[in-house]
Amino acid sequence: MMKILIYSSQEFEKNYFNKFNAGQHQLDFTADSLSLETVHKAKGYEGVCCFVADSLEENIILKLSELGIKLIALRSAGYDHVDMVAAKKCGMTVVRVPDYSPQAVAEFAVGLILALSRKILKAYIQGLEHNFKLEGLMGFNLNQKTIGIVGTGKIGMAFAQIISGFGCRILANDIAPNMSCHNLDISYVDFKDLLEQSDIVSLHCPLNPSTYHLFDHLEFSQMKKGALIVNTARGGVINTKALIKILKTGHLAGAALDVYEKEKGLFFIDHRKDMIQDEQFLELQKMPNVIVTPHQAFLTTEAISNITQMTIDNITAFENGKPIHQIL
Ligand code: NAD
Repeated sequence: MMKILIYSSQEFEKNYFNKFNAGQHQLDFTADSLSLETVHKAKGYEGVCCFVADSLEENIILKLSELGIKLIALRSAGYDHVDMVAAKKCGMTVVRVPDYSPQAVAEFAVGLILALSRKILKAYIQGLEHNFKLEGLMGFNLNQKTIGIVGTGKIGMAFAQIISGFGCRILANDIAPNMSCHNLDISYVDFKDLLEQSDIVSLHCPLNPSTYHLFDHLEFSQMKKGALIVNTARGGVINTKALIKILKTGHLAGAALDVYEKEKGLFFIDHRKDMIQDEQFLELQKMPNVIVTPHQAFLTTEAISNITQMTIDNITAFENGKPIHQIL
């Protein structure tokens, strides 16, 4: 039996954890996210279970190691928030949940596209004021449009599968083209060609040094006039300042963002009683052609069920000396 502290735990996860754990491990929950202030709570545990809201920078990993933590079990597919060099130095095992439900994220990305392209939120908000005029609600068909996918891994391919059903032309860019896409009509093109030709660009690559601010001033200016950008990957893939600037020029028609580069401390928290200080975020949120959702693309019952089950399996495999889904 492993003793694990689950940071950033949310109420909706607990029943799933208790069901799949079935007494195999001692799981304790804290709603606190992992930070310098909360790292001491890991004392007496063998492992911590973390989410994207948790800080796993060098100083925190060193502290976890001093406290005797041997395992970091991530409840996410992405691991850009973990200082892998520090974890390696401390001899820690880091595991993740790589493919808990690519469809959950892909379906949400398609939902965001429809919300933007058909002005669904605008219609809803107008309707609350009993304004049912159609003025300003003109959308466009997805059929025959060109969709650019950046990153054709598990989520990118699930997205391609769905979007192909709309009769779209699909362009893709990936540092390692996906060979399993032969049943779909996808053309791999240069990044610049994808930017120039796509009516909608959907991001599905991880955040790493090669993708940090992959979309900056130049790349936005290379996108087709009137195009939309959808980001369900990681906030840092987009330079938000550059996005705001290009949206203001009218060159891009809109953006849908489920992730934001400074989302730590912002998302997953109820801020109704405090003032959000991030001016850039507030500016973005006020733009009529921008939709921001709080990193919820993964949030389906199927995904949470798979995340918790895989996490329990990851902990058990580590205990048995045969770690699975290991990053380190
Ligand atoms: P994956 O590893 O299966 O696929 C990622 C793909 O991106 C790979 O094919 C890889 O070769 C490609 N890639 C890497 N660097 C690239 C670059 N510079 N340019 C173009 N392509 C590049 O990962 P996945 O399971 O499909 O997940 C993708 C990302 O989605 C995750 O890393 C995570 O950040 C994000 N995600 C977000 C949510 C959410 O709720 N919003 C949930 C899960 C995952």
